[in-house]
Amino acid sequence: MIDTQLDAGYENVLRMIRYVGEHMLRPAGLAADRRGTPIPVDDPMFLEWNQTGLSFGAVGMGKNSQGEGVTRINRSAILAAEEMAYWDQGACMSLPGPGLGGPPIRILGTESQKQRFLIDPFEDKTKPAWGAYATTEAAAGSDVARIQTTAVEDGDHYIINGNKMFITNGGRASWVVVFATVDPSAGRAGQRAFVVEKGTPGFTVGRIEKKMGLTASETATLFFENCRVPKENVLGAGQDKSGFKAAMATFDITRPMVAVMAVGIGRCAWNRAAEIAREAFGAQPTSPIEQAMLQRLAHARQRLDAARLLCWRAAWKMDHKQPNTIEASMAKVYAPPAALNATKVAMDVCGLAGVRNDTLVEKCFRDVKVFDIFEGTGEVQRIVLARRLFGYPRTH
Ligand SMILES: Cc1cc2nc3c(=O)[nH]c(=O)nc-3n(C[C@H](O)[C@H](O)[C@H](O)COP(=O)(O)OP(=O)(O)OC[C@H]3O[C@@H](n4cnc5c(N)ncnc54)[C@H](O)[C@@H]3O)c2cc1C
Repeated sequence: MIDTQLDAGYENVLRMIRYVGEHMLRPAGLAADRRGTPIPVDDPMFLEWNQTGLSFGAVGMGKNSQGEGVTRINRSAILAAEEMAYWDQGACMSLPGPGLGGPPIRILGTESQKQRFLIDPFEDKTKPAWGAYATTEAAAGSDVARIQTTAVEDGDHYIINGNKMFITNGGRASWVVVFATVDPSAGRAGQRAFVVEKGTPGFTVGRIEKKMGLTASETATLFFENCRVPKENVLGAGQDKSGFKAAMATFDITRPMVAVMAVGIGRCAWNRAAEIAREAFGAQPTSPIEQAMLQRLAHARQRLDAARLLCWRAAWKMDHKQPNTIEASMAKVYAPPAALNATKVAMDVCGLAGVRNDTLVEKCFRDVKVFDIFEGTGEVQRIVLARRLFGYPRTH
């Protein structure tokens, strides 16, 4: 039975996030959206964020890699992720921290790698730092088994060649976990994860994408040309886990998290629409249109709540060290369309004002679309889920 109780610790963290969200994330996200460019690296918001003490460690991400003595690390991260997304997901993704690069290092890294990459770069709070995670390539998005970036052994180094695209915080990161193949003929078994540090010769940043939503967050193309990476930066060397398995294990943690972010954005649009509806419909909705709108809002809310519970279940199982791949996929399949639906209904409630591109609801509509794309597209997640439910071997 999953535990949905919030204790005082959670409530305090959520209260702090609400304050930071209202005063920092929402204004920065709206400004970036209007400007059309990500929040710059030297924005004072990042320093302020570092001073809040609300690091991802404090809200459940990044600490206690083994989960020892902690049974709620993913649950608390899920709660925090929804609340932060509610205020502004683009701004949230731009915040300093290891980002999606954290889980593979936590899963596969040695103690020394965890110290070098997860602790040392983030210790000085006056210098915001980022990590990133790079699997996606032009010919390998959903099908990560097809990555073409190669890593060739050369003495005590590997030489990496290839390009990665759509990498969150890739241009500003101190290090990037890069997935490459050491043996293209071995398929998934040939994949390894390498931590490539900023400034490594041969590692360069290409264009920063212009996106329809999540504008506050930087999305970069990365190039690796004869990039020499020392062997001490290989994750999982000597372990019985390939880079591919690490990527998959990462998804079991990150998919419910990404799914619940969509819920946060959907809730933001829903709440705004509910305020507008209450104001417009007065004490008693009378016309059939008003009543139909209320019903659509009620149905949208029901789907959002169901999505949240799926995310909580997946996180709860992870915290209790139970397999959660099916539950993580279910959350990821269900939440983004539920959230997109909530933003669509909210747009309809706003009427013509909804399609003007200066309303929060319209921004939520654009921000939420991508949640059906990254961390496993909806289509692919449905395939994965169906195969897993029937016990067929994985194709993705
Ligand atoms: C804002 C943003 C941030 C991102 N951040 C990162 C990051 O930090 N690191 C990173 O590595 N990547 C990142 N990505 C990339 C993201 O993970 C990929 O976009 C995603 O994996 C989908 O890959 P693709 O875009 O190549 O689409 P494709 O895989 O080419 O899919 C295109 C369409 O085909 C469908 N499709 C694919 N295969 C099948 C199938 N077998 N059956 C039926 N339909 C199928 C898909 O559902 C989709 O609708 C980011 C993307 C965005 C938009």
